Amino acid sequence: MAEEFERLESIRVSALDEILGKKFKVLDDGFIRVIDYMGSDEAVVQAARVSYGKGTKKVRQDRGLIRYLMRHKHTTPFEMCEIKLHVRIPMDAWRQWIRHRTANVNEYSTRYSVAIDSAQETLPGEWRFQAKDNKQGSSGFVDEKLGVELSKQEKQLHQTLREIYEKRVELGVAREQARKDLPLSTYTEAYWKVDLHNLLHFLKLRMEKHAQLEIRKYAQIIGEEIVSKWVPLTWEAFMDFTFGATDFSASEMKILKELVAKNNNAATELAEEFGWLRKNESGALVKSLERIEFEEKLGKLNLTPPWISR
Ligand SMILES: Cc1cc2nc3c(=O)[nH]c(=O)nc-3n(C[C@H](O)[C@H](O)[C@H](O)COP(=O)(O)OP(=O)(O)OC[C@H]3O[C@@H](n4cnc5c(N)ncnc54)[C@H](O)[C@@H]3O)c2cc1C
Repeated sequence: MAEEFERLESIRVSALDEILGKKFKVLDDGFIRVIDYMGSDEAVVQAARVSYGKGTKKVRQDRGLIRYLMRHKHTTPFEMCEIKLHVRIPMDAWRQWIRHRTANVNEYSTRYSVAIDSAQETLPGEWRFQAKDNKQGSSGFVDEKLGVELSKQEKQLHQTLREIYEKRVELGVAREQARKDLPLSTYTEAYWKVDLHNLLHFLKLRMEKHAQLEIRKYAQIIGEEIVSKWVPLTWEAFMDFTFGATDFSASEMKILKELVAKNNNAATELAEEFGWLRKNESGALVKSLERIEFEEKLGKLNLTPPWISR
């Protein structure tokens, strides 16, 4: 007699099925598309219920459970979902992307094949200034006249490097060596498969304002166009409890309590005790990243640190 078992159907998400294979354009010649996926919000809930036992099933609704998991960083149920993306991206942004080790990757080989004949070009209005307050960041745009010159130089450079590369290949130089002087702006392509937990970690770091604009554009599309359709409840919880949330350290909480109680002097004394208000010889506050980041958090609450007005 045939053994009886619970027949299961693999979980599909129609909103994601509708965009399978669709190319979302990024930068001037990049894209992201979904190749395949496994799981959904339902799969997250299903996995969580296995670990919590059947007793909780009737009590919690799916949305509430997902929000609870996200809030309390119960991450393994999110690992039950996976997605495979096809990305086309300039090598400099890819170099940042590939630092996320918790994914499976296959990249276009420029040892095996001729390098993709496309390099990311920067329009005259897109050249950014080096930020003054953040050594890694950019801030504001160079003026249009200079931008035109920079874009012209860039085009010439790309053309020259490509011509030299193609000449080397034509002369029989090995592709693995011929490629060495191609610019970092050359596009590459990869398949990237990752579970939902690690994808959200990637998005937290790369959608954030400190991430470089180019990779941020990819992350935003993955988040807003793909993850939001694939796992809407998880996306909502992620935006609420992770991406949009602000953490306060124990020290920050002490100051915050004093500020809320309008004890500005006590708040300032604490800041002094934490070493945030040291001054240089000319009496200006010495840069303290902890203080500056706390001030930014206060700004979000429309609170002004009392030490600024002193
Ligand atoms: C704004 C910004 C600036 C950056 N600047 C620099 C820089 O100047 N120089 C630089 O080199 N990098 C820089 N990075 C890269 C950064 O340090 C991380 O390497 C990258 O963001 C990947 O993060 P991750 O390791 O958390 O992610 P993943 O590799 O995806 O790992 C996810 C998580 O898995 C766990 N994990 C993975 N592998 C291990 C392991 N071997 N051991 C223990 N736990 C593990 C960790 O908890 C980790 O957080 C920067 C990143 C950002 C977002």
